[in-house]
Amino acid sequence: MTKLLHRTIGATLPRAVSGQGVTITDSDGRAYIDGSGGAAVSCLGHNHPEVLAAMTTQMNAISYAHTSFFTTDVAEELAQRLTALAPDSLDHVYLVSGGSEAVEAALKMARQYFVEIGQPQRRHIIARRQSYHGNTIGALATGGNAMRRAQFQPILPETHHVSPCYAYRDLQTGETHAQYAARLADELEAKIQELGADQVMAFVAEPVVGATLGAVPAVEGYFKRIREICDRHGILLILDEVMCGMGRTGTIFAFEQEGVVPDLVTIAKGLGGGFQPIGAVLLSRKIFAAFRDGSGLFQHGHTYIGHPIAAAAANKVVEILTRDGMMAHVNAMGDRLQSGLETALGQSPYVGDIRGRGLFRGIEIVADKDSKDPFDPKLKTYAKIKKAAIARGLLCYPMGGTIDGVHGDHVLLAPPYICTPHDIDQIVDRIAAAI
Ligand code: PMP
Repeated sequence: MTKLLHRTIGATLPRAVSGQGVTITDSDGRAYIDGSGGAAVSCLGHNHPEVLAAMTTQMNAISYAHTSFFTTDVAEELAQRLTALAPDSLDHVYLVSGGSEAVEAALKMARQYFVEIGQPQRRHIIARRQSYHGNTIGALATGGNAMRRAQFQPILPETHHVSPCYAYRDLQTGETHAQYAARLADELEAKIQELGADQVMAFVAEPVVGATLGAVPAVEGYFKRIREICDRHGILLILDEVMCGMGRTGTIFAFEQEGVVPDLVTIAKGLGGGFQPIGAVLLSRKIFAAFRDGSGLFQHGHTYIGHPIAAAAANKVVEILTRDGMMAHVNAMGDRLQSGLETALGQSPYVGDIRGRGLFRGIEIVADKDSKDPFDPKLKTYAKIKKAAIARGLLCYPMGGTIDGVHGDHVLLAPPYICTPHDIDQIVDRIAAAI
C-alpha cells in the first residue's frame, strides 16, 4: 500500500520516468504526447537542453541565498527581462514560487497599497464566477468555482463574483459583442455600487479563461470597459496570467491582445517551463511608489522566493520565448490546431465550440448541439475523454462538472511551443478519436 497521498485518494497512476521534447514516457515504456504541457506548464517541452544547462551552471555557482541577505545576478536579470517585455507602467517584479503564491502576493500588494495611500477601508475583491485563481485560501476565495469553495465555507467574506465573459453560453440572441460587453460592465458596476465604490480593492480576472472554462477569450472591448470602470472608481485591476501568460496565447502577455494594461499581473507555469517552481507578480509604478514612499516595506515573503536555480531556468525560458520567431511559431501552430480540430470535430454532435488563442485551445463538449445542454455531470464525460485520450497516448486537460450548475465538460489543449506540424496533427487525430 503506497504511503504517498495522491490528489485522488487511492488512485493508481502510471509512473513517469522520462521526458523529452513533447513526449513523456512511463515505466512500462509507453510514450504520451504531452498535449497539455501538464497543466499549460511545459512551454518548451520536457528537459529543454538549454534550460537544463542554465540551471546546472547556476547550481554549480550557488543554489540558495535567502532574500533577506542577498540578491543574485539571475534574479536581477529576470526582473530586467520581464519588465523589458511588459508595458512601461509595469516596472517592478516580485518573484514567488508558483501561481497561487503569485495571486496571493498580488492580493496582498493591493491591500497594502490602499493602506499605504490612506484608504484602508478598501478590502473587497470582485472576481468572476466559474474562475480559478489558485488553492491557497485567499486565491481560492477569489476564485468563483463554487465546487472548489464549497468544503471551505465560510471562506473570506470580502470576495464577490460577477459573470465571466463567456460568449458561447451567455451571448443572447441578436446581441452584439459590444452590447454583451456593456451588459457585463453594467453587472460589475452594479456590484461595485452594492459594495460601495470606495470599499472595493480589486477586480481579478484571467484574460483568457483556462482550466475552468477551457481557453475562453473575452469578446472584443470587454477588458477596455473593465479597465475604464476600475479607473473611474480607483479599483486595481489584477490580471491572472498564471496559465494564459508567457506566450501561451501567441503574445508574451495575453492582455496585450486586449488593449489594456493591468495594475498587477500574475505569471507562473510557463515562466519556468516546468523547471523549478517559479512565479512572479509584475506591479505598476504607482503601487511600487506607494510602498517606497510609505512604509518602505512589502509586508510579505516566503523562504524560497527569488530562488537562484528557478530564476536561472526562467531567464533561459524567457530568452528562448523571445527569440527565433517563437511567438510566430506559436501562432502558426495554434492556427493549425484550431483548423485541424474544426475539420475533425466540427460535425460532431458532441462538440459545441472550439476556441482559444495561440497554443491554448478549448473544445466544449455538449449532449445536444442545438440546445447546448451539457451532459449530466454524474456521467463524468470529461474523465472518460481523459481516459480515452491516455489510451491513445495523448495527455490533455479535460474538466467538467457543475461549476455553479451551468457549465458542462470541456477539453483544454496546451501543447509545448516547440511542437511541429506533425505533433499538432497527431494531437488532433488522437483527441478526435478519444471524443
Ligand atoms: N491562477 C490560474 C489562472 C491557474 O490556472 C492556476 C493553476 N492552475 C493558478 C492560479 C494556481 O497556480 P499553482 O497551481 O502554481 O499554485
